[in-house]
Amino acid sequence: MALTSDTIPRAVLDAPVPVGTYERVTRVFDGPPERARAVADAGAETGFLDVTRRDGQQVVRQPTRYPEWIGGLVGVENKPDLERPGGLSRQLRHDASLGVLDYAVVATESHVTGAHLNRLPDAVGVWRVDFDRERPIRIVREPERLDAAGPGLEVLDEHAARTDVRPVSGAAKARQRRQIAERAHGKGWRTFGLPGCARASTGDGGVTLPYCEHFDRVVDPARECGTDCPGFADADPPAVALDAERERRTRWERDAGGRHRQAGLDQF
Ligand code: SF4
Repeated sequence: MALTSDTIPRAVLDAPVPVGTYERVTRVFDGPPERARAVADAGAETGFLDVTRRDGQQVVRQPTRYPEWIGGLVGVENKPDLERPGGLSRQLRHDASLGVLDYAVVATESHVTGAHLNRLPDAVGVWRVDFDRERPIRIVREPERLDAAGPGLEVLDEHAARTDVRPVSGAAKARQRRQIAERAHGKGWRTFGLPGCARASTGDGGVTLPYCEHFDRVVDPARECGTDCPGFADADPPAVALDAERERRTRWERDAGGRHRQAGLDQF
């Protein structure tokens, strides 16, 4: 299996396309025949579906199952100031009771008190983040694994004396997990930009990180770099080959899309 930068249309993934055996396109995809054919063609274009003609009908199949490629989902809620939590508690009660994620964590710059912890569901982990420290993340509380495989409860509304919830099946959660993972995957990998500063480098650990030789640590370029920084010295950003590194370190392959590829029956 290879992960690719191509996108399989959602209508293709959500449809009951048989694996291995052909079925009429119009029986598999909802809507008028033109729409069904267009969705099938879009799936074939990505290499995920085989589409052919049998007995004068356009038919479709999946040559192979959609792979189980999601290792785990960790949701990190960024809340710099716990004294101004907004809807944080509610969001985290929602995350914990729905259980679409494997783990939920709050990352904060605040000093974390017992009162803060008490307001959060027990399963939610807490990280204290301080970029001035050599090790910027201190784990205040470890997260507990959520029940991502089973059914969950979605919090719809909260009142003083009652909470409205809706049951969500394990299958619906699996669809949501897939969508979250695909979105995260599609956003890319190491999405930070390296600063245009002579003091910036990519670190020396064989992994590209925004390392600052002036502060002698990894920095957050979006927050810390720029002409206001006392160590700033104008220069081109360090040269990096992130696609090559992503291919080397993950299962992602730049050209794995297999456009127009049709699998043969010998795959079964
Ligand atoms: S701008 Fe400042 S923090 Fe960023 S790399 Fe340069 S010296 Fe370091």
